[in-house]
Amino acid sequence: MLREKLIDKFTELFHSQPELFRSPGRINIIGEHTDYNDGFVFPAAINKEIFFAVAKNNVEKIRLYSYDLNEFFETNILKISKSTCHWANYLLGVIAQFHKENTQIQGIDCVFGGNIPLGAGLSSSAALENGFAFALNSIFNFSKSKINLVKIAQKAEHEYAGVQCGIMDQFASMYGLENMAIKLDCRTLEYEYAPLNLGAYTFLLCNTKVSHSLASSEYNIRRRQCEEGVAILKKFDSKITALRDVNSLFLEAYKESLSALIYKRCKFVVSENERVYKAFKALETNDLYKLGQLMYQSHKGLRNNYEVSCSELDFLVEESLKNSNVLGARMMGGGFGGCTLNLLRINEIENFSQHIIDSYKMKFGIEPEIYTVQIANGTGACK
Ligand code: ADP
Ligand code: MG
Repeated sequence: MLREKLIDKFTELFHSQPELFRSPGRINIIGEHTDYNDGFVFPAAINKEIFFAVAKNNVEKIRLYSYDLNEFFETNILKISKSTCHWANYLLGVIAQFHKENTQIQGIDCVFGGNIPLGAGLSSSAALENGFAFALNSIFNFSKSKINLVKIAQKAEHEYAGVQCGIMDQFASMYGLENMAIKLDCRTLEYEYAPLNLGAYTFLLCNTKVSHSLASSEYNIRRRQCEEGVAILKKFDSKITALRDVNSLFLEAYKESLSALIYKRCKFVVSENERVYKAFKALETNDLYKLGQLMYQSHKGLRNNYEVSCSELDFLVEESLKNSNVLGARMMGGGFGGCTLNLLRINEIENFSQHIIDSYKMKFGIEPEIYTVQIANGTGACK
């Protein structure tokens, strides 16, 4: 097992006995591009995870070993700064945040590795930051709260990885519970769990293996378009500070004041926020059929109104629509590539996966990757 291999590697490298921690990746069931509009998201932690073997070393050194990349990194604890070693930055960024909060880290050794595909949109980066933050907090007895650790992890990503992410990924990875989805209010950080009693169904991800270069420029454009919508709509109600404060009725009432393009963007965000609420209700009443319908609606909005999909993602969703054992599918993440999230019958996994692999390969000449996931607990120590 991976955990044993990590411990063996740790004792081989550092000749001491480590403590073991685990941190998962996440899916987002619904609620895309809503975070920066102060809205709602609906993620869950998954059984794709990173394990960390960690111990103090009493020598003022940070010694890190990536088991998956077979790479070693070492630096002095008093000289924490951004590195040219890409993966080390996620961990150094966490240490830097502990130092900023006047919680001094001493010499530490860490061996880590896992099974979250890198860069596929399952938040391997958040798992990496969270797991290390949790381990440091535990080993140095700092008693920081979970939300404090989440914010440390997010800032590490901002400042050391240079990615201005929202808080969803780190939050979901930290707060996940087995068979529970988390409805998170990105404005207040209030959260509520909903049961995921999937029964004969499961979530499955199809990785397009593409990442179109439009992603980051279009992301910034969408953020500006949302702000533009808010600037106009707030003239009719000064309490509006983000699209989160707008409902469908209000948007329709003032539709004429917006350009066609800005209306489309606002329409998506407003509807998507409402879909998170509806998805939460659907899970409370165990209505998986409804949840699936909402996922399809979400994809349609992302494709037609928000225009952040691409032909590869659309193809995968179109194929899923042909199979009645798939209740819902949508692109997940920022768009222009990454994975689709599918809700389908467990006994259909093999058949559907094979069809997707064959048809996608035929159409795009790329072998897609398929991952089945279960909903798992968040970051923690391993017993
Ligand atoms: P995502 O979070 O969607 O998986 P990111 O680009 O945000 O994608 O983060 C991926 C990066 O995180 C990798 O390039 C690597 O630097 C680091 N990383 C994640 N998991 C691991 C791992 N198991 N081993 C080494 N580095 C990792
Ligand atoms: Mg990431």
